Amino acid sequence: MGPDMIVSDLVEPPGSTPDNPPGIITAETSSNYRAALSKAFCARWYPQVTEREWTNWRWQLRNVINSFVQLQQMFNISEQEVCSKLPMRITPYYASLMDPEDPADPLRKTMIPSYQETVLSKGEEADPLHEEDQSPLPTLVHRYPDRVLFLTTNTCASFCRYCTRSRVVGDCHKANIYSRQSWADNIAYIRDHTKIRDVLLSGGDPLTLDDDTLDDLLSAIRDIPHVEMVRIGTKAPMVLPQRITLQLVKMLKQHHPLYMSIHCTHPDELTSECSSALQRLADAGIPLGSQTVLLKGVNDNVDTMKALYHGLLKNRVRPYYLYQGDSIIGSSHFRTTVTKGLEIMKGLRGHTTGYAVPTYVIDAPKGGGKIPVSMKTVLAHTKEKVVLQNYEGKIFEYPLSGLV
Ligand SMILES: *Cc1c(COP(=O)(O)O)cnc(C)c1O
Repeated sequence: MGPDMIVSDLVEPPGSTPDNPPGIITAETSSNYRAALSKAFCARWYPQVTEREWTNWRWQLRNVINSFVQLQQMFNISEQEVCSKLPMRITPYYASLMDPEDPADPLRKTMIPSYQETVLSKGEEADPLHEEDQSPLPTLVHRYPDRVLFLTTNTCASFCRYCTRSRVVGDCHKANIYSRQSWADNIAYIRDHTKIRDVLLSGGDPLTLDDDTLDDLLSAIRDIPHVEMVRIGTKAPMVLPQRITLQLVKMLKQHHPLYMSIHCTHPDELTSECSSALQRLADAGIPLGSQTVLLKGVNDNVDTMKALYHGLLKNRVRPYYLYQGDSIIGSSHFRTTVTKGLEIMKGLRGHTTGYAVPTYVIDAPKGGGKIPVSMKTVLAHTKEKVVLQNYEGKIFEYPLSGLV
């Protein structure tokens, strides 16, 4: 493929090809579409880059797209898309999957800043979950008695525009609070609090750390007798699948029981590169769960969510949480109604594999924690019976009389 080949000559968006009438988007057309976009993008913008460089996670991080000028060259930028307070950062790999012509492309919406990020809506806050009030130390959130959220770093491979921690992520002036000293302080705190049995490593993205650093951190945590399990929250398999090397998983599996929560938003993120990364993690015996944020214009319909959850299960990832968007500043263009979330849950429960159905939660403002929001299935509950409604709307009674 010549470097001067025009992307639109090669790539038809799914649903608009002659074989595939508009509106019918299969997983296969979608993945062909993204693969073609990626190929054209590499040929056009990285013609000299070798396969070896492209598949190297350090090369990807060294070459992140973080300037608007560069972005404007690569993408046909709309009037809605502008610079913003939360810095921009996109791995070349993820950028290669984004549609250069279409500002409505769901993958693109999650990464390219919009002027709407400057709009403050009622009830929005920099730290809606009041994490800072529940932080005994600057980089440790202790909300629930038996588990803590350990913020390892404030950087990520790519910055999601709707980030719940956009107040700290990517801010170089705040990077120094994620020092090795802060890790040592967090570890001492966990050691002193014997009720803590579960440590969640998040950030930022812990998989931006190198293997040795992460190995040291995991060893120090695993060394605490009352810590029963560790979890890593990451979007690396989606935005930087090259990070999931065999050496990384070999190291991670020394720290079992280790779970991983991957952050995915759209079925098109499940590329062949991503699948290989997930396969390496699953083969290392790491139980994989997913956390998805419900995002307007990205994944707020049953078909997209079903495709995402089916795709995840095929990759041995169990959908864990579906989050209502946190009310961070400048997020109203991404947030849907709760009715929309319930409608999606209704379209899943009973209609597909139970494993494909996550728990829909609102992370309550002011630090109330994750609260499940569910459809009404119990219509009445007396001493004699519970009256239940199934996924088809049919009514059933379960007898209770005589039970104490
Ligand atoms: C989400 C979260 C946890 C973990 O919650 P689980 O329901 O156990 O997954 C722990 N601490 C904080 C502060 C959190 O936000």
